[in-house]
Amino acid sequence: MTAETARPAAADPAALAARLIDAAAEVVIAHADRLTELDSAIGDGDHGHNMKRGFQAMREQRDAIAAEPPAKALQQAGMALVMKVGGASGPLYGSFLMGMGKAAGPRPPADLAQFAALVRAGVEAVASRGKSKAGEKTMLDVLIPVADVLVAAAAEGVDGVEAAARARRAADDGLAATEPMRASKGRASFLGERSIGHLDPGAKSSCLIVHAACDVLAGPAGEGS
Ligand code: ADP
Ligand code: MG
Repeated sequence: MTAETARPAAADPAALAARLIDAAAEVVIAHADRLTELDSAIGDGDHGHNMKRGFQAMREQRDAIAAEPPAKALQQAGMALVMKVGGASGPLYGSFLMGMGKAAGPRPPADLAQFAALVRAGVEAVASRGKSKAGEKTMLDVLIPVADVLVAAAAEGVDGVEAAARARRAADDGLAATEPMRASKGRASFLGERSIGHLDPGAKSSCLIVHAACDVLAGPAGEGS
């Protein structure tokens, strides 16, 4: 691994922010039907449509968002989702980005520890907004383990490529873990026992976005490792 693969566009934060927005939008739009299918099983079948609308809006505002310093860019990206996604997930994903924005400084995170602290702040904002925690069959079952492994990787001093590999694995494992869970938050909780045996749609969208972000920040999976 080289310093370049760990932080591909560190010299140009606006270009990196634009690539993150494009990558997240692309993966959400490409998997919108799958997200809707998952939400049809244990919700109301709108998650793919909701997310697609929100990430299309974020992509339309990409250049304006990316030109701002991190705190404002994250705030604006979060607002785009709150305004457009709708459903429970819009305010929750919006809170994630705005929570990161509140914790961000004037410059992009200088190292993994600072980045992990932003992710942790975003996850805490989701938990606070959703009054939710791990084990309730929601997006937090992906986001909490991802924040945990990033904080631990930073403390261990591992490089960006290894941290990304751990984050991808944590996201995959977190998503898989939602299948046997009984939902206790969100619409799926209305199904009680019948929510068991299905992946959570919000955990799936979070997993997709984590993979997309890791690919941009550390290079595609497998590269350099
Ligand atoms: P809605 O449930 O309003 O139709 P979506 O279908 O867009 O909204 O999003 C559903 C997803 O939102 C769920 O799969 C779950 O991951 C997430 N979710 C719902 N409620 C909560 C909550 N209180 N905390 C965290 N995530 C939640
Ligand atoms: Mg829904």
